[in-house]
Amino acid sequence: MKYWRKPLDVERIKVPRGRVYVIEERCKGCNFCIEFCPVGVLAASEGFNAKGYHPPYPQNEEACTNCGLCEVICPEFAIYSLPRDGKEEEPHE
Ligand code: SF4
Ligand code: SF4
Repeated sequence: MKYWRKPLDVERIKVPRGRVYVIEERCKGCNFCIEFCPVGVLAASEGFNAKGYHPPYPQNEEACTNCGLCEVICPEFAIYSLPRDGKEEEPHE
């Protein structure tokens, strides 16, 4: 992660890591989660669910910070994230 200004306690900062899960059949393809994920984890899949929508999938799962925004923003409760234990990244410059 890059910082525009280096925090004084940068050595103590750990970036949490998460894994995102999609309940495909609940998705209505609104793309809110794709648009608003702050680190661009999600993209629309090629496949369809039973309702005829393209559910999201984690195209860049390594970047997920388990912020939970996709879970909060989804109107269908179709996506959530969980922490990846032991996966924290040391901050970069
Ligand atoms: S938890 Fe946050 S970083 Fe991870 S996919 Fe959802 S919005 Fe993106
Ligand atoms: S916010 Fe929910 S309903 Fe909308 S595309 Fe994402 S998973 Fe599907």
